[in-house]
Amino acid sequence: MYHIVYSIVIPVFNEEAVILESHKRLKTIMDTCNESYEMIFVDDGSSDNTLELIKEICKQDSCSRMVSFSRNFGHQTAITAGMEFATGDVVIIIDADLQDPPEVILDMIAKWKEGYQVVYGKRLQRKGETFFKKMTAKIFYRILNLLTDVEIPVDVGDFRLIDQKVCEALKSLPERNRYVRGLVSWVGFRQTSVTYNREERFAGETKYPLRQMFRFATDGITSFSHKPLKISIFFGSILSMFSFIYMIVVIYQKLFTNAVISGWASTMAVILFFNGVTLIMLGIIGVYIGRIYDEAKARPLYIVGETVGFDNDKS
Ligand code: UDP
Ligand code: MG
Repeated sequence: MYHIVYSIVIPVFNEEAVILESHKRLKTIMDTCNESYEMIFVDDGSSDNTLELIKEICKQDSCSRMVSFSRNFGHQTAITAGMEFATGDVVIIIDADLQDPPEVILDMIAKWKEGYQVVYGKRLQRKGETFFKKMTAKIFYRILNLLTDVEIPVDVGDFRLIDQKVCEALKSLPERNRYVRGLVSWVGFRQTSVTYNREERFAGETKYPLRQMFRFATDGITSFSHKPLKISIFFGSILSMFSFIYMIVVIYQKLFTNAVISGWASTMAVILFFNGVTLIMLGIIGVYIGRIYDEAKARPLYIVGETVGFDNDKS
């Protein structure tokens, strides 16, 4: 295979409405670079016509390749697979729905040529997304930063350029739960950003409903922070302190006064409240144990069903 400079990685899940347009726009942009490139479409187990469309693209365009998963493994896994299949000096990750304008890639490449090894796209505006999504995203990124020791830039998605060296470093991280944008911050190297306005989705609808967003958020936090586990220490200490003081008061009342001890309601309230707290803490521990379990099983991150356009294709 000849030498490739740019590898574009595009995770795709049920994007039949946009995939042809994305390919066209990406190609137009990449052709202006006058350097060799490849486009790797990672089909994340689409159930619509996406797979057929990508195969058609690969047939007509020798720069396009496809890796398709045996089922849906998730966006972050698709990105990881794309990195593993990429052969270029640089890997550029971009969503298939044209929310990240392909034109920004040229700015990223310019930064790379200046010597930066990671160039991430920072969103100035997000068009066509609900107020709720923008709000929750904003809050989440800030909580994440509060909880973690790695500096993960805010308002940044997975749209970014990474040098081959960074890519190698990421591939050497064995963890199964992959929160890619955090891992990229974690590995370091010379990083910078370019700003852009996030467009509306070209067509189709978001694959991140609330449930997925929540999962993604917990993944991010638990991958990069132990702090939730320590909340119980904090809670527990405060509580013991107060109960100790209160115990002295109670004993005093019992021995030296004849104050009436009343309050079934208050006792119930306290019991219920702290049982709630205990269960939440158990749940948090459970989440971490679940992740240890996932790592211990050491299953492969994904299973490839089919590839097109690589040296020894699997079909
Ligand atoms: N995606 C994927 N697997 C999934 C969900 C999404 O590969 O399980 C892809 C999707 O096709 C798109 C990108 O990840 O290219 C981002 O998804 P989406 O646009 O739905 O997320 P949003 O932009 O709404 O956060
Ligand atoms: Mg999108």
